[in-house]
Amino acid sequence: MRVAGRVEDIVERGLCTGCGACASLLGNDALGMDLSPDGFMRPRRRRRLKDTEQVTVMQVCTGNRLSGPAPEDAAAPHPIFGPILHLARGHATDPEIRFRSATGGVLTALALYLVESGEVDGILQVGVSSDNPLLNDVSFNTSREQIVASSGSRYGPTAPLRDIMAMLDSGRRFAFIGKPCDIATLRNLARVDARVDRQIPYMLAMFCGGNPSISATYNIVRRFGEDHRDVDEFRYRGHGWPGPTYVRTRQGKEHRQSYDETWFSNLTYELMFRCKICADGTGEHADVVAGDCWVMENGKPSHREAGDGWNMHIARTVRGTQLIEDAVVAGYLHEEPFSVAELEAMHDDHGLKKRSVFWRLTALALTAQPFPDHGALRVVQAGLAASWRERWAAFRGTLARSLKRRNRESPVTSGTFAPDTTTS
Ligand SMILES: Cc1cc2nc3c(=O)[nH]c(=O)nc-3n(C[C@H](O)[C@H](O)[C@H](O)COP(=O)(O)OP(=O)(O)OC[C@H]3O[C@@H](n4cnc5c(N)ncnc54)[C@H](O)[C@@H]3O)c2cc1C
Repeated sequence: MRVAGRVEDIVERGLCTGCGACASLLGNDALGMDLSPDGFMRPRRRRRLKDTEQVTVMQVCTGNRLSGPAPEDAAAPHPIFGPILHLARGHATDPEIRFRSATGGVLTALALYLVESGEVDGILQVGVSSDNPLLNDVSFNTSREQIVASSGSRYGPTAPLRDIMAMLDSGRRFAFIGKPCDIATLRNLARVDARVDRQIPYMLAMFCGGNPSISATYNIVRRFGEDHRDVDEFRYRGHGWPGPTYVRTRQGKEHRQSYDETWFSNLTYELMFRCKICADGTGEHADVVAGDCWVMENGKPSHREAGDGWNMHIARTVRGTQLIEDAVVAGYLHEEPFSVAELEAMHDDHGLKKRSVFWRLTALALTAQPFPDHGALRVVQAGLAASWRERWAAFRGTLARSLKRRNRESPVTSGTFAPDTTTS
């Protein structure tokens, strides 16, 4: 197995998740975070890195390895969905949160409970950039208003850990909400920096099928016939369940399209290569993870508008289980039973994804490409459960991609993303 050992290789071989931890660890004079020409958030090298700096980053980077949380907190894992200490469907009890959020507002309700009960000083989380409504940024939120404003799914690049060292230096105690890969990075960091476990008592994640290039966002705007410079508000979903993708221009023009029109029609965008070899779409390293609790039609999840949102959520740790229990008792969260069989049927896209990873990694190994050490994520076990058709599709696709160098990304010294300014 070949693991990338330098930031340059992590980025250029398509293994970077864009979390920003490397830039925070080494400082701004060494690495900045910016949109790459491919439209992904990537470290941009500002000077040559020393060998010791490379080692510092590799201990933490999930393009290199995923070491996971301390084992004593983990339950015996489900082969696909990982440790399940508590599983339920539910939603925020506050109707405004439930309406505005991506799904049923479980993550926002838990965040609000943590702040209002004094468990933490604030929440480190992603929201809309204050400079550009098409972009995302990370902020440290301490008030209800800020936390609710950061609800919703931002399917696009962000670097949620770009200031993580400054946050730890500040001595604050906070919860973090992010993608599974962001949490995995924090767990790696916890192994070398004891402040993580002391100061970040709660790590919450969403199910994640992969994060697209920012070109997806710009292409949605172009498809509506608008110039990106005129956009005043942009939402991928929320304000309903799943809620329409929504664009409002400065001139007051509004556009909407359904979830399926956004993600399952002819929208052109690239998913990060790192997401294609991700074995942790269901947030195994988080204390609590939440996903959609889709309405099932003919045994398949339907994405049609279904009124008030429902999440399914899993507590992975004792601490996460206690948090959910406390939030229910305090009246922030409503819960109903949800079974593992329902989870398996509803989120089999994550089953397929996990079963495929081993075969994708095999193709990378055969073509001498590096890939991360996936640690305790049961990649081989899941791979052996794949059908022959699934194995072949995953292997062949990655082999072709690797041979054509389509897993590669622009160098860490290249320029930034330039949006297409033509309207369609
Ligand atoms: C890239 C991406 C892929 C997803 N894939 C799936 C999937 O495959 N299956 C599924 O069931 N659900 C998926 N979701 C999650 C789903 O959209 C909801 O976020 C989830 O159901 C939680 O709902 P909620 O109502 O509790 O969230 P909310 O209460 O609205 O809270 C969402 C939280 O997520 C944070 N957040 C939003 N975007 C990002 C981001 N890009 N990076 C880090 N943090 C972010 C916000 O800060 C907020 O705290 C995905 C979300 C994203 C962003």
